[in-house]
Amino acid sequence: MSPGNPAATAAPSGIRFDGVSVAYGENTVLDRLDLTVEPGEVMALLGPSGSGKTTALRAVAGFVRPASGRVLIGGRDVTPLPPNQRGIGMVVQQYALFPHLKVKDNVAFGLKAHRTPKAEIAGRVTEALELVGMAAYAARYPRELSGGQQQRVAIARALAIRPGVLLLDEPLSALDARLRSGMLAELARLHRELPDVSILYVTHDQVEALTLADRIAVMDRARLQDCGTPEELYRRPRTEFTASFVGNANLLPVTVTGPGRVDLAGTALDVPTDTAAPGAAATLCVRPHLVGIGAGPNALTGTVTEVQWRGSTHRVHAEVAGHRLMADLRELRDPPALGDPVTLHFASEDAVLLPAGTAPEATESPEAPETPKKAQAVASG
Ligand code: ADP
Repeated sequence: MSPGNPAATAAPSGIRFDGVSVAYGENTVLDRLDLTVEPGEVMALLGPSGSGKTTALRAVAGFVRPASGRVLIGGRDVTPLPPNQRGIGMVVQQYALFPHLKVKDNVAFGLKAHRTPKAEIAGRVTEALELVGMAAYAARYPRELSGGQQQRVAIARALAIRPGVLLLDEPLSALDARLRSGMLAELARLHRELPDVSILYVTHDQVEALTLADRIAVMDRARLQDCGTPEELYRRPRTEFTASFVGNANLLPVTVTGPGRVDLAGTALDVPTDTAAPGAAATLCVRPHLVGIGAGPNALTGTVTEVQWRGSTHRVHAEVAGHRLMADLRELRDPPALGDPVTLHFASEDAVLLPAGTAPEATESPEAPETPKKAQAVASG
């Protein structure tokens, strides 16, 4: 507990999913999830719509009962406990404030439900509202607040009970882009002020996950696909799915020809190949910002198919060796034009070789970020 921080918590922290499965009828929507969120850690559950993220969060909250497996909070098995005995705070996408209650009464609501002594309630409400910068709005009704302010009140309500675990389900997705980036910074500050609280953050937005999370758990089709720090997942993804869902990726089908060598449609490339056996099909992953223009190592010659100016970079798409390759190029004085011949290259150490076929078809959803879809298109074409 940090001294001087009124909302600091001594409540049990840390979450463990121990082989947690959830099914609706025949449909398994969470398949044997094993995952640990350390005390004080922000874990993002990132994945396309329908991949089981909210179900995992609701299993921690106690709103869905696992078909098998256990959920532990602070090392204690809470699987049989009702939500109000788990020491969790939860915030969902749609604020869910009571419209007929003032801000302070909304925040007090959870405290009353937790049988907090009456004499303590007013003080705890003020503490929680101060934590989110909303103390001046205590006497307002939700309708008198902006979306961002309502969401802050919802967070204050979740924090008032001093939970050891904070569950956030797409908390920013109802906000417009400008408010969202402000709230992201707010959440990062809140995390610094509550260093003991474990936060599980469900999102389909990779920017939110990369910005906020200490680690990201990548979900697809009811399963955990990958888990690591944002940097690990970005630099060293283990699957095509992670590579394309976390950041932009060129994914090229290659054949391993020997130690450190692969073949891309007749062009030999030097890449790290510690594990893959000669003759094996693999997928080469190179981030667009690590592709250079002109002669260099691993040069690929082709034709420019698209040029997009993006302010600080030009994104050049080219067709090379029968495949599309994207390059994000900085300070390009003389950008190539559509149809120009072009040579692109990348350093061996910037390439990652992935097992082929580790990109389960993305569950296409209007919410899924644009980037992965583009990368999928590169992968298949
Ligand atoms: P995500 O949060 O990744 O979008 P969810 O965990 O909400 O995914 O849902 C996973 C799957 O479970 C989806 O296919 C969804 O339709 C299904 N599902 C969720 N809740 C229910 C429910 N109450 N009854 C039946 N199916 C459900």
